[in-house]
Amino acid sequence: MNIQTLKVEESRINEVDASNIQFGKTYSDHMLIADYVDGQWQPAQIVPYDDISMSPATTFIHYGQSIFEGVKAYKNASGHVSIFRPADNWKRFNISAERMAMPHVPEEIFMDGMRQLVELDKDWVPSSDGSSLYIRPFMFATDAFIGVKPADCFRFMIITSPAGAYYNKPTRIYVQNKYVRAFPGGIGFTKAAGNYGACMLPTAEIRKLGYDQILWTDGYEHKYVQEIGTMNVFFVLGDKIITPDLSGGTILAGVTRDSVLKLLKQHGYVVEERPLTIEEIRESFYKGELKEAFGTGTAAVIAPIAELFYDGQTLDLPPVEQWEVSNWLKKELADIRYGRTADTHHWMYKVC
Ligand SMILES: *Cc1c(COP(=O)(O)O)cnc(C)c1O
Repeated sequence: MNIQTLKVEESRINEVDASNIQFGKTYSDHMLIADYVDGQWQPAQIVPYDDISMSPATTFIHYGQSIFEGVKAYKNASGHVSIFRPADNWKRFNISAERMAMPHVPEEIFMDGMRQLVELDKDWVPSSDGSSLYIRPFMFATDAFIGVKPADCFRFMIITSPAGAYYNKPTRIYVQNKYVRAFPGGIGFTKAAGNYGACMLPTAEIRKLGYDQILWTDGYEHKYVQEIGTMNVFFVLGDKIITPDLSGGTILAGVTRDSVLKLLKQHGYVVEERPLTIEEIRESFYKGELKEAFGTGTAAVIAPIAELFYDGQTLDLPPVEQWEVSNWLKKELADIRYGRTADTHHWMYKVC
């Protein structure tokens, strides 16, 4: 699909200090827009990055029909740009869309749109180790109508932002036993905007206590662990690697989570996807078997956990330098992304 493209007259790339990229504050030259009107997707367009204007009655502002994705593009040593598993994000985007009564975004718009946008702004993909171009596809309801009903009109957009390498300081985790993020039958498995708004206050409260992130637990008993902020979670207990299973619909099915599971299995590790209680983690800790714990997600990739605070007790993990599994995973994923090792799973989608 050839997308109508209006290019900037002059790129802003020279305004960017490549050695000090402020993630999420700088956006590449162009963005993609596609509108859904009268039951049909209108042709997508690529235009200069700019503000958008809308009616104050625009329905997503009031009722939250709004979803997003997070994807990354990488530049390898020979200057080629590839995107990590974008088709999986496309599929997940449409799962979110369905739950939020929004239209599916066709593959041509999501995939071709992303590829053409990234190719046009390829100079914005940083090349230093650990850096990437963060790609943010999103969709929101655009009816100018404040009655409560599923909207008829929607806008799909993609913006991109260069992301520098950052050191993942081991995080201090607060195991949440008061607030709830997701409940069976709810929207925990989607990247719907409201999920994140609802987590702001609980997160602000634990930050005041000196913690970085929340490990969410189930809403019935605060007994089973779910996930962390915007990351899935893995625990190395003895010789097993355990992550909560996705069956309850309360956990976001991370693309990084899936990649980690596939790499671990391929490498012969014993991996279990199953309900995991905080009690089991605590018992393993006291037996000296809690060896590693980490979050997985597109933004941080592998985020080691330094400590878990639960119900008045602190479980301190061993020093990260000694961790075999997560350090191996981190290197393996980076090697695939920067083209230093064979992409046997066909995860890299070549752009240019
Ligand atoms: C995005 C996200 C993740 C991680 O998913 P990835 O596809 O690996 O980036 C995990 N949990 C939540 C709640 C998320 O929003």
